Amino acid sequence: MAFRHVYFNEAVCDGCGRCVDVCMCDAFERNPEKGKPPILKYPDECWFCGCCVTHCPRGEEGAIRIVTPFPMRGAFKRS
Ligand code: SF4
Ligand code: SF4
Repeated sequence: MAFRHVYFNEAVCDGCGRCVDVCMCDAFERNPEKGKPPILKYPDECWFCGCCVTHCPRGEEGAIRIVTPFPMRGAFKRS
């Protein structure tokens, strides 16, 4: 079973699809239902670059967040 690491907040995400467009791994696909969060179709393709979060127009409101696996967290820690 794939590790789930991307979470959408349905109350905030408006389904704009920006995260789908910027993900270089094509981990997402657009939701066929208008206004709904994208679908994380290929979670194993994600390499935790963070682009989907930083490019999300509603990222600061918490529309999308990623949870890096514990062993990788040190590598992403800000100095
Ligand atoms: S998570 Fe952000 S970028 Fe992705 S569809 Fe929702 S609002 Fe748009
Ligand atoms: S963190 Fe990067 S690779 Fe993973 S889903 Fe977001 S944009 Fe794609």
